[in-house]
Order: sequence, then C-alpha cells, then structure tokens
Amino acid sequence: MIEFQNVSLVYPNGTQGLKDINIKINQGEFVVIVGLSGAGKSTFIRSINRLVTPTDGALLVDSNDILRLKGKELRKLRTKIGMIFQNYNLVRRSTVMKNVISGRLGYTGTWKSIFNIFSKEEQLLAYENLKRVNIEEKLYNRADELSGGQQQRVSIARVLTQQPKLILADEPVASLDPPTSHQVMQYLKQINQEDHITTIVNLHFIDMAIEYADRIIGMRAGEIVFDGPASEVTEKT
Ligand code: ADP
Ligand code: ADP
Repeated sequence: MIEFQNVSLVYPNGTQGLKDINIKINQGEFVVIVGLSGAGKSTFIRSINRLVTPTDGALLVDSNDILRLKGKELRKLRTKIGMIFQNYNLVRRSTVMKNVISGRLGYTGTWKSIFNIFSKEEQLLAYENLKRVNIEEKLYNRADELSGGQQQRVSIARVLTQQPKLILADEPVASLDPPTSHQVMQYLKQINQEDHITTIVNLHFIDMAIEYADRIIGMRAGEIVFDGPASEVTEKT
C-alpha cells in the first residue's frame, strides 16, 4: 500500500526532517508512529499525501510514486486519503452535517456546499458516518458548539464520508484529555478493523501506542529507530 524507498526530506532552512527512510506499510495495517517532539513523525505522515514534499527518493502510495504525480493526479489520489489533525480542522461556523459532507466534496467544495444544497444520498451518508462515532444527534449543531472530543469524532466522520483507502492521523489526541483520547483511539481502531482501511497515527505516548497499534514505528531525529509489533516494545524510543 505504502512504500518509502530511500526517502529524505530537507526543509528549506536545512533541517533534515527525514533521513533515508525505507519502509513498507501493508493494506489494512494499523500503524502508530511514536517519538519525541521534533522526531519527524509529522513530516513522515505529511509526506504520504504530500502536504510536505520529500527532497529525495521514491514514495509509493497505492502503486503511484507520489513524488512524481502532477497536480491533477495528486488531487485524485488525495480524495482517497483521509487526514485527521490535532486541531480537528473543521469549519467552525458550519454545521456538523456540512463539515461531514465536505469530506466527499473535496478540499475546495463546490457550489452545492456554498448554497447548502445536499442530496438525500449525501445527507444519509453523513448521518450514517456520524452514527458510527455516536455523534449523529449533533448533525445540525455548529462545529464550534462541540467539545474537542466531539469535534474530533466529527472529523473522523468527515474522513469516512470520503470513503478513503488510507487514513492519516497527525496527533489526533494531542489536544484531548486521557478518557477522550482513548475514546477517539477506539473509534479509529474499530473503523480499521471493520473497514480494513490502512491507518497511520502519530502519538506522543508510547503506552497508548502499545494499547492500540498492530505495529509501532519509533522515530528519532528523522530516522526509524524501531519497527515491530506492539508486543515487542519495551522502552521509550
Ligand atoms: P508538532 O510538534 O505538532 O509537529 P510543531 O510545533 O513542531 O508541531 O510545528 C507546528 C508547525 O510549524 C508545523 O506546520 C511545522 O511544519 C512548522 N514548523 C515546525 N518546526 C519548524 C521550523 N523549525 N521552522 C519552520 N516551521 C516549523
Ligand atoms: P514531530 O512531528 O515528530 O514533532 P516534525 O516532523 O514536526 O516532528 O519535525 C521534524 C523536524 O523538522 C524538527 O526538527 C522540526 O523543527 C523540523 N521542521 C518541521 N517542519 C518544518 C518546517 N516547515 N521548516 C523547517 N523545519 C521544520
């Protein structure tokens, strides 16, 4: 599903975000990336949908080398990659339903989104996905009326509405308290198990990684320093 071949990324200021990464991630895996702040976790995850662009190597996603894709092809691939962020990235003044349907409309939206015209089918899909994360009763609330945990669940429903092949979650629980963090991780894990969507999550905390991951990748200073099943992790990376 994903293969990094000698991938390096040097930021314009000279900071090396990734150093010669070689790794394969298979269809359906639930992978957690751990490491201290600055280790390169975010750079790794953002490379996969080219929110940042590696400066060297090849990066295969669904058998396309995304470093060589042109604008239109890249946009098409991105429609199949669901992204979840630490700060939810919802449109705060829009309704939950509009936020969720926008997952399907793509990044820029369309005239339908501007005029709030949604088909029955779109509304039903949004409702079904909100139901999967138990937040369907907030359908007509504005996003900024929800708590952090509720907003993150809405962002999971938005990603599901994209019907993605891959979910990338960049520190999805870093702004949440421990019980809410576990709830969000449980939903991500459950969706991975039910839908077999390849899922890659960045986390600060190793104990949470061990609890949810099938496979843990440890990073330090832009390099992979551990890669194995959660059961083999014994110390902090
Ligand atoms: P996190 O710890 O969640 O990765 P950071 O505070 O490191 O967040 O980064 C926040 C934002 O600032 C990101 O968009 C990142 O790309 C950018 N950033 C981080 N470090 C630098 C840096 N040294 N120079 C410029 N931008 C940076
Ligand atoms: P993590 O997600 O593990 O906290 P990052 O991938 O955000 O790590 O950062 C890896 C390294 O790259 C850090 O040294 C960070 O400061 C640097 N970095 C991140 N974003 C940028 C940026 N936009 N410009 C320059 N340096 C950056």
